[in-house]
Amino acid sequence: MADRIIRAITCDGAIKILAMTARETVEEARRIHDLTPLTSAALGRTLIAASLLGNDLKSDENSLTVRIDGDGPIGSVVAVSDNYGYVRGYCRNPHADLPVREKDRKIDVSGGVGKAGTLSIIKDLGMKEPYIGQTPLMSGEIAEDITAYLATSEQIPSVCALGVLVDRDWTIKAAGGYIIQLLPGVYDDEIDRLEECMKKARAVTECLDAGMTLEEMLAETLTGFEIEVLDEAEVGYRCTCSHERTCGVLMAIGTDELRTIAEEDGRAEVACQFCDKKYVFEKDELYELIREIEIRNEKKDEVRGVV
Ligand SMILES: [Zn+2]
Repeated sequence: MADRIIRAITCDGAIKILAMTARETVEEARRIHDLTPLTSAALGRTLIAASLLGNDLKSDENSLTVRIDGDGPIGSVVAVSDNYGYVRGYCRNPHADLPVREKDRKIDVSGGVGKAGTLSIIKDLGMKEPYIGQTPLMSGEIAEDITAYLATSEQIPSVCALGVLVDRDWTIKAAGGYIIQLLPGVYDDEIDRLEECMKKARAVTECLDAGMTLEEMLAETLTGFEIEVLDEAEVGYRCTCSHERTCGVLMAIGTDELRTIAEEDGRAEVACQFCDKKYVFEKDELYELIREIEIRNEKKDEVRGVV
């Protein structure tokens, strides 16, 4: 069953909710990157967060990146979403693994991500420069880090829950999450009621694994609130790489390096870091790219000459 994302609001318009199922999305990431339970949980949670926040973007040209740079064994974790919530991502050490945590028998995501580091959110809104916000990691558990980011960097009080449940054979059994945002004008008593709800809330994966729909999960989680679903959409793991985009990656390494590759290896093979698709560039094409860089540099020099 394809993953879905819903956008909802309480009937008084004070609280906005984004919620999604993500089993297929995280399973696809696991399959592509050969993830362990630890990296499935860390990258999975990051993908879910990116998808939920990305779904909020306005136009088709927009994209949103969640990037976590912690000091744990997983290394950097990156997830990129389009404005529908279709995501792609990777982590630096996909095979990193840790024993389950003693105290709660759960996957040690904060141990894998690290407690010291930063969470960055990069929004490409089609302007000249992307918008970049950054906050220090709070716990490395990711949902808390997203909540802290939204509070400090965007001044949006929110609640975030992200979950990935890994089966015995390491496939993804359930995954999903939600972000609940308090809109301007929310009453104090509603905040109190929301806090009470959150204290009693079951884990997202527990609800989804029990077969609940997103609507049922929200109804149970937000007892007492009247919720109206505004829209829903299918989401999933989707890469946007192409031969043309890979040319850009190769050109960025510069003429000297490209010439060395062309002469020594006779060809270049570039794997997409998001989906592992391989792009091959034969010698002729490498020389074409070198020529293209040189033409661009000449043009730049001409412009400088005029100035
Ligand atoms: Zn790709």
